[in-house]
Amino acid sequence: MNIGVITIFPEMFESILKSGIVAKAINNNLVSITFSNPRDFAEDNRKTIDEKVFGGGPGMLMMAPPLEKSLKFLKKKLGDDSLVVYVSPQGKKFNNVLSKKVVNNNKIILICGRYEGIDERFIETFVDEEWSIGDYVLTGGELASMVIIDSVTRFIPGALGDKCSVEEDSFENGLLDYPHYTKPRVYNGKAVPDILLNGNHEKILDWRQKQSLGRTWLRRPELLENLALTDKQEKLLSE
Ligand code: SAM
Repeated sequence: MNIGVITIFPEMFESILKSGIVAKAINNNLVSITFSNPRDFAEDNRKTIDEKVFGGGPGMLMMAPPLEKSLKFLKKKLGDDSLVVYVSPQGKKFNNVLSKKVVNNNKIILICGRYEGIDERFIETFVDEEWSIGDYVLTGGELASMVIIDSVTRFIPGALGDKCSVEEDSFENGLLDYPHYTKPRVYNGKAVPDILLNGNHEKILDWRQKQSLGRTWLRRPELLENLALTDKQEKLLSE
């Protein structure tokens, strides 16, 4: 999986490059991340990449020419068929479906805005999609890009190792995950549910399914709206 990132703050990415699953995936050659800093392509000695906005108003805007050169640099490395995504609060809400789309495409270039964002003409000319990580405004696209890189990495075969599986996590089968417990058996006066200790795997599976369904219904009922429940799930719900 090849990921390109356009950012004026590449050092912000050190946290995911140095620790956790993304770092491991990079070390195992499952993921490669290449950065391009628009400042390296600025056209003046002061390395200017932002300017005042036409029409007035607060803040600065990232200019198109350094971004275009930064993008061309990354496309040369990753290929012209890379999916170009501008992370933006105005974009489509990022989710697991988009994450898997990235894994299938195998190449993505993420553009991190700063200030008031980037010149609209650059977006119109070069951006394939705009993705948002939620309905709030960040000071820059770097954290959003790290969220996307982390989420995408989980879906790369082999990235999570044998012990973890994405298949049972929330959203994978349209439901939220069931509750999990570990040692000690009694904590703060609360015991682990008996059913998880009796070794009856069929009953444990049923209990987990039921918990998933119940949690989803309570916490995210809208997820159930378009979900076709299996006969087994219908039966568990009616019990
Ligand atoms: N003026 C822009 C607006 O209101 O739509 C906000 C610009 S924001 C201060 C600076 C940059 O942060 C954006 O260009 C974008 O790259 C990034 N950003 C902010 N919020 C985001 C979000 N929810 N999802 C993804 N990126 C975001």
